[in-house]
Amino acid sequence: ETKLQLVERHIRAFPDFPKKGILFRDICPILKDAAALTAVIDLFEEHVRANHQQVDLIVGLDARGFLFGPLLAQRLGVGFVLVRKKGKLPGATVSVSYELEYGKAEAEIQEDAVTPGQKVLLIDDLLATGGTLYAACELMKKQQAEILGCLVVIELKELNGTDKLKPLEVFSLVRY
Ligand code: 5GP
Repeated sequence: ETKLQLVERHIRAFPDFPKKGILFRDICPILKDAAALTAVIDLFEEHVRANHQQVDLIVGLDARGFLFGPLLAQRLGVGFVLVRKKGKLPGATVSVSYELEYGKAEAEIQEDAVTPGQKVLLIDDLLATGGTLYAACELMKKQQAEILGCLVVIELKELNGTDKLKPLEVFSLVRY
């Protein structure tokens, strides 16, 4: 079994969650299995080392980006920064609002989280419409970071999130 097959085998689908008509991809089994979690981080690490000479920070998205981001950052020997939902971070923050399927949300980062020119990679568990990662990229631009690309465990192809993020590169492990 390849690392990728091991990862795929630890993703479950739940119909009608969180509401009717949505097929939710659950990554909890990956975290529960030490080998599957190691395989995810191995695959991300291999991709980053092969494609990016220098990375300064891994930027993780609230909340499931926090599960993978720090592990990858440690492997790469770089720091980790949190993009959070509004109101969770102390001190001076920078925020950006973005559209959800119903209504609006706000993403926030600490003002001193990234210094201008730092090379960052964004990470989340799943890319759907791309709205969440797009908002995080807006925050990175406000901080004058150099965005190298985005990493996700799962990409839902039919929602065309990669188009929304163009010309940024999105690396996904599993695509549905
Ligand atoms: P987007 O902004 O790309 O439409 O949605 C992606 C965000 O919603 C991610 O932060 C992701 O965690 C969450 N999300 C949406 N659908 C799913 C799903 O089916 N499974 C998981 N694990 N997360 C999802």
